[in-house]
Amino acid sequence: MTFYPRKCHNCGCGMDTGHIWDNTYTFCGTDCLIEWLYHEETCFYTEWDVESDSDGEVYDEKGNEWTIKKCSEGNRKEEA
Ligand SMILES: [Zn+2]
Repeated sequence: MTFYPRKCHNCGCGMDTGHIWDNTYTFCGTDCLIEWLYHEETCFYTEWDVESDSDGEVYDEKGNEWTIKKCSEGNRKEEA
């Protein structure tokens, strides 16, 4: 029989390596860590919309910041 000094807080398996969250909860892998975070609602998946969820600062896929200014006619104009 093999003994382990810790067990996964999510799936319960014995373990001797793993992740530790908040210096308390141990997890065997990122899947278990993320599953637990979602279960605790510490982390959740969501989506954001450029029009309603930004204050004019937006980003391209490389992380470059852009500013969206609205013209008086309401047309969008992007500036780097
Ligand atoms: Zn686990």
